[in-house]
Amino acid sequence: MSHLASPQFAARFRSRRFVTSVISLMAFSVAWIVTEATAEDGTSTLRVGAATSNITPPLGEKIVGGWTPVPATLIHDELHARCIVFDDGKTQVAIVACDNVGIPREVFDHAKNLAEQATGLPASHQLLASTHTHSATTARGETKTQPSEELTAYQQFVARRIADAISQAMTRRQPARIGYGFVDEPSEVFNRRWFVTDSRLGTNPFGGTDQVRMNPPRGNAALDRQAGPVDPQISFLCAVDLQDRPIALLANYSLHYVGGVPSGEVSADYFGYFAKAIEQRLGADEETFVAMLTNGTSGDVNNIDFRNSQPKRYQPYEKMREVAGKVADRVHESYDAVEFEDSIEVAVAASDLTLDVRQPSEAMLAHFAKFNADPDAETTHRREAIYAKRVAAIAAGPKTVTVPLQAIRLGDLGIAAIPFETFAETGLEIKERAPTKHAFTIELAGGSYGYLPTPRQHRFGGYETWLGTNNVQKDASVLIVDELMRLFESIQPTSDRPTDGS
Ligand SMILES: [Zn+2]
Repeated sequence: MSHLASPQFAARFRSRRFVTSVISLMAFSVAWIVTEATAEDGTSTLRVGAATSNITPPLGEKIVGGWTPVPATLIHDELHARCIVFDDGKTQVAIVACDNVGIPREVFDHAKNLAEQATGLPASHQLLASTHTHSATTARGETKTQPSEELTAYQQFVARRIADAISQAMTRRQPARIGYGFVDEPSEVFNRRWFVTDSRLGTNPFGGTDQVRMNPPRGNAALDRQAGPVDPQISFLCAVDLQDRPIALLANYSLHYVGGVPSGEVSADYFGYFAKAIEQRLGADEETFVAMLTNGTSGDVNNIDFRNSQPKRYQPYEKMREVAGKVADRVHESYDAVEFEDSIEVAVAASDLTLDVRQPSEAMLAHFAKFNADPDAETTHRREAIYAKRVAAIAAGPKTVTVPLQAIRLGDLGIAAIPFETFAETGLEIKERAPTKHAFTIELAGGSYGYLPTPRQHRFGGYETWLGTNNVQKDASVLIVDELMRLFESIQPTSDRPTDGS
């Protein structure tokens, strides 16, 4: 893939081992030479590089975590694109986590092209994701469907800086060993969708009533039971140099975000605090170590205990610091048990999946026609005006959407990438069905296409299922998981693949 590792170049030197050491002294980053060196002296074949880029916006850019965008007036903590590159000597992959609520595909694709031009790393080998901090400024552009040549200044800046993070991580690759661990932290994850016994809590902007209410009033007597599971698992993978010093750590936890940020302030939320906390816990070198917390499958999971009507009161940023500290503690406690390996295989597969865009029903169109004819009439739901606009835009827009999917394999660990806010039950299904020994999912990767409820959750209703919050066919999660399984199977080691008669 990389022009540096061309077969001709490799063939020229393969039979002349003595040249290898000479070449190694030179500043060439030629993957096959590292592989050849391994065979002789037993050192690592694996190389890992990590780097960060600052993606903090200028003040005045719009923060978009809530219903109404507000201009940024204060930078509480800097936003970053954090990158780790894994290189087994043959295949390289880059994983980048960006402090943003949801970066659209056209921005990520632009970043991938820039990084490919700069490093030779194919776009399909780059997994770019948003953390889903709700206190970053928008990278969505002026409209949701914008061609890449019309990217806004901030979109162009973010793309450029993501590419820089990848270029720098590629440059900083060094012999490394990697290992991973899994530990539960159930105390900070709650499914936020509740069956309610009072129909007044279930109204929707389409003039109807749902069985399920997202973020219901705390401690309300009408709360019956949660509509879905949570995934309490923290998955993490870390890389150390040949002196066992931590180089990079990637963690994954299925929690929407924490919040507690005053209006107008920019913050990476607990994702940023985690990176600092784990660096301190591991005693890592702050100048070279890179940690990132990626978002798992948290479309329906936050850290609010809705049964509890008397919650603890927090100062701004206090709770996110507490949650980040807890997650870092769990990782730190498990770190000693991690078994590091120096020769794992890196593999990646990617594909595009075309989905139908969900269309409004006749009843929905009639409801909004009535609403638009007399917007001042008493409304049945306070978000009616917003959904009237969203539904009209969907009805006038394209009928299909093509979304990117990726599967990465690092040894016997699988990483799935889904460009939606994915539900916990989908993440658990992927962990169960993936052919790798372990697996987890990074959501909002490759793009940002809204919520992805399962068909079962669509039947229950609730905010995440509303047309305009969810925009694709109701069985999209099924098609996506099936396609991811196909991608995983295609990159399994040959001996593990199912054969005829087995
Ligand atoms: Zn959100």
